Amino acid sequence: MTDYNAPLDDIKFCLRYAAGLDEILQLNVYDGVEIDDVDPILDEAGRFAHDIMGPTNRVGDEQGVSVENGKVKVPAEFADVNQQLVENGWMALGGSPEYGGMGLPETVEFATSEMWQSANMAFSLLTMLTRDATHAIKAHANDTLKQTYLPKITTGEWAATMDLTEPQAGSDLAAIKTKAIRDGDAYRIFGNKVYITWGDQELTENIIHLVLARIDGAPEGVRGISMFLIPKFLLDADGNPGERNDIVAASVEHKLGIHGSPTCVINYGEGDGAVGYLVGEENKGLAAMFTMMNHARIEVGLQGVAISERACQLARSYAHDRVQGRVPGQGPRAPIIHHADVRRMLLLMRSQTEAMRALAYATASQLDRLHHEESDEARKAAELRLSLLTPVVKGWNTETAQEVTSLGVQIHGGMGYVEETGAAQHMRDARILPIYEGTTGIQALDFAGRKILGDEGREIKSLIGELKDTCDAMEKDDALQSVGHDVRWGLEQLEQGVDWLLGNATENPAAIGTASVNLLMLAGIVLGGAFLAKATLASRSDEGGVDASFADGKLATTRFYCGHVMPRAHGYLAAATADPGTTMGMDVEAI
Ligand SMILES: Cc1cc2nc3c(=O)[nH]c(=O)nc-3n(C[C@H](O)[C@H](O)[C@H](O)COP(=O)(O)OP(=O)(O)OC[C@H]3O[C@@H](n4cnc5c(N)ncnc54)[C@H](O)[C@@H]3O)c2cc1C
Repeated sequence: MTDYNAPLDDIKFCLRYAAGLDEILQLNVYDGVEIDDVDPILDEAGRFAHDIMGPTNRVGDEQGVSVENGKVKVPAEFADVNQQLVENGWMALGGSPEYGGMGLPETVEFATSEMWQSANMAFSLLTMLTRDATHAIKAHANDTLKQTYLPKITTGEWAATMDLTEPQAGSDLAAIKTKAIRDGDAYRIFGNKVYITWGDQELTENIIHLVLARIDGAPEGVRGISMFLIPKFLLDADGNPGERNDIVAASVEHKLGIHGSPTCVINYGEGDGAVGYLVGEENKGLAAMFTMMNHARIEVGLQGVAISERACQLARSYAHDRVQGRVPGQGPRAPIIHHADVRRMLLLMRSQTEAMRALAYATASQLDRLHHEESDEARKAAELRLSLLTPVVKGWNTETAQEVTSLGVQIHGGMGYVEETGAAQHMRDARILPIYEGTTGIQALDFAGRKILGDEGREIKSLIGELKDTCDAMEKDDALQSVGHDVRWGLEQLEQGVDWLLGNATENPAAIGTASVNLLMLAGIVLGGAFLAKATLASRSDEGGVDASFADGKLATTRFYCGHVMPRAHGYLAAATADPGTTMGMDVEAI
């Protein structure tokens, strides 16, 4: 078992060269913030993650959560972590100054979030959803709700949750039944939500639930869904938590991983109905909730990076310690890191983690651009890029985290399969990532349907074109020549996949479903590698930007990725473009 150490070198590298933090800091809203101001914040976040949060990861996994006397109990150690996180201002880092936030770039907040997620993913879901909720409230709530609730949520004094899922409504939110009945200026909410992450807890003095429900008489389907803000404790005349709202956490789930995160069944309105306030317009709730969900989707992709990073660190440390077998030139018996196959596994873990990080940070940077670019045109460009890349970050990063954490177990041999080392926990914790916030299948349909077919492939082709331009530059650099060649080849595979979809989807609608996950994986592999290579290229022309040994390591992992991961693009292209009949032809009873 090793401690988590924040990979500050690579985080800073990705902020600079994948996210373009220098450019983001040129945006007017960040006037006065210098890149040198950011480094100490990251260093301190790294210390907090290592010293305060990291040590609670194992405890949370072992103790888990329970409901006792109607209260959700989480490991006692979490209270101190949360208190320090709030008191030291970490929750408010990227928050809007209007509501008590520090107003730093969201991209910087994203980097700190990676460290929290690595240190203790189960705990950090609390902080993640709370931050994500602020965006939806800020974008859609009326001024009274914003003034009343946002300051306390921004600082983290109050937590927030996202309540969509019901027993009959998972991927299919059109089936939501939770009911809202008008009651003066507010509504009374009745219904049953399941799987609500951090749906109840005693760490914060109030919990603000963002809930999807159907106003009595609203149309069927997604056009009849509204979003409500429902506080656990109603506020008294002074704005402090007072009377308990009609909300009960009926139970918590017993699950494969993230044991420290309470996944709750929440009943609204067992009595007179929970008091809720409409956020945004009636029947436009799904669109409002998407503001929160889109943030959360990028952050779940970031969880893929975070858990992979932790798995890499553990596997690397074990591979240096564990002595087994002979390696020529290494004495009678050698640490397993000297075996070629173990090196292969470690490099698969590391290079894919770095590619995921480059892709995730490049995507997150579009949030700052979307919110703060001056021209409509630049904001629109950011919106299109963000929207295209969000399902790729969510889908590919989280699926790749399965491979990386599984390799982490493999490198430990038998010790990986027993709980003692912690490698098994990473694999168990990672398994939720491709499920919640929209399964991989749902991300893939969004990617192929809305993001590619929806704009006739224009945005993805424009991205492919830009990345091919960087291949020209790579091919002129001796050290990156082969990387440029490999990335260009990958981009061509992706282009072929996109063209196939554009050419076949109208005639054969089943093609979207049969191709979409393969296309999503193809995009992730190629774009992850392309953003990794692009960042590597940018760092090479920034003299003194990174130290020599880091630069050598980055070049080596980029090359390894191109040799061992990029070729998978061809397999995914072949599967994406396979005759849809091979998937759809067999009778369902026969499968
Ligand atoms: C630990 C945990 C925490 C969670 N936290 C929250 C939370 O905080 N808030 C919240 O609201 N929900 C939460 N969820 C719920 C989560 O978002 C859902 O489980 C998820 O969206 C999938 O829904 P489902 O479980 O009903 O699966 P289903 O929708 O039944 O899906 C089952 C399978 O069918 C596939 N499928 C379904 N529909 C389609 C389709 N149209 N096309 C192709 N394939 C399809 C899916 O990809 C999946 O493989 C959480 C779940 C868990 C396990």
